[in-house]
Amino acid sequence: MSFDVVVIGGGAAGLSGATALGRSRRSVVVVDAGSPRNAPAAGVHNFLSRDGLPPRELLAIGRTEVKRYGGLTLDATAVSVRRAPGPAGRIGFEVELDDGQVLAARRLLVTTGQVDQLPAIPGLAARWGRDVIHCPYCHGWEVRDQPIGVIATSEHAVHQALLFRQLSKDVVVLGHTAGVAPEQAAKLAAWDIPIIDGTVASVEVTDDRLVGVRLAAGTTVPRSALVVTTRLALDAALLAGVGLTPEPHPSGLGDVIPTIDPTGRTAEPGIWAAGNVTDPAAQVITAAAAGLMAGARLNADLIEEDTPLG
Ligand SMILES: Cc1cc2nc3c(=O)[nH]c(=O)nc-3n(C[C@H](O)[C@H](O)[C@H](O)COP(=O)(O)OP(=O)(O)OC[C@H]3O[C@@H](n4cnc5c(N)ncnc54)[C@H](O)[C@@H]3O)c2cc1C
Repeated sequence: MSFDVVVIGGGAAGLSGATALGRSRRSVVVVDAGSPRNAPAAGVHNFLSRDGLPPRELLAIGRTEVKRYGGLTLDATAVSVRRAPGPAGRIGFEVELDDGQVLAARRLLVTTGQVDQLPAIPGLAARWGRDVIHCPYCHGWEVRDQPIGVIATSEHAVHQALLFRQLSKDVVVLGHTAGVAPEQAAKLAAWDIPIIDGTVASVEVTDDRLVGVRLAAGTTVPRSALVVTTRLALDAALLAGVGLTPEPHPSGLGDVIPTIDPTGRTAEPGIWAAGNVTDPAAQVITAAAAGLMAGARLNADLIEEDTPLG
């Protein structure tokens, strides 16, 4: 099968880009492995008009909108991408899927997102997206006024603690593996946020509810929500065949696919990227906006290529 654009990744960014392309009468397919980053969460917040909608419901609506304008969606994983020049030496690509299919495309939109890697603390992963959280704008309101523990694995913990202190007066920083530098400790003291030294050995759960953490020294700290910093991971191997190499993001949270303009154009001709794969801080609505920008620019790029000169 051959398309104007193959979109790799069917989260908010990819589906939004595909909708823009379909509405411009472009043939487009979204290949999606079905694991959006926010899947463990009960609802999407800070998305105007969609507050609280379960993440997969939002994406199901997005898929319907893509199909309304003639786009296709495929439940599959792209395993490799390579250049395969089109007629008259024009830009072209082949995308190989895990079921062996090969899709031909004039352009690519990469919206594969990121995978959160959690601190290696027994019991933590099972609570992820529920009462183990990372983002005050995603779940902060839901844990307001609760006893919150921020697990320090980097200096980012202080920033998180200050943000969550806006939502609850009962915030503590658990020093864990990073501790808190003296100049940062002053900021915490200004907001009456205690620092509890010691490595977190495990997460305590009762009746499917987080109730605290146990420190390596044996003491427990009662908490009903934990805040962590995750390390973000993307699939670098997928894009190696087209020369796209991830670079560290300045935030230190992980690597991203570098883009060279605000529409998500990469340095590799014919390839755009959008959403968390380029911006770890992108929320669902901003990932969708970035996908739209990329879709619109991809359409214009194809028009430029098809415009006869002279
Ligand atoms: C627990 C949690 C809760 C969150 N809650 C909120 C919230 O309330 N509000 C908010 O705005 N943001 C929230 N976020 C952030 C939100 O998850 C991201 O903003 C959003 O998912 C980014 O969209 P995306 O399209 O870039 O990536 P994703 O949504 O992650 O979508 C990427 C898609 O690409 C697919 N994919 C990956 N590799 C391939 C491949 N090789 N082939 C095919 N498909 C592939 C994945 O399976 C996935 O379906 C939350 C994040 C987490 C971790």
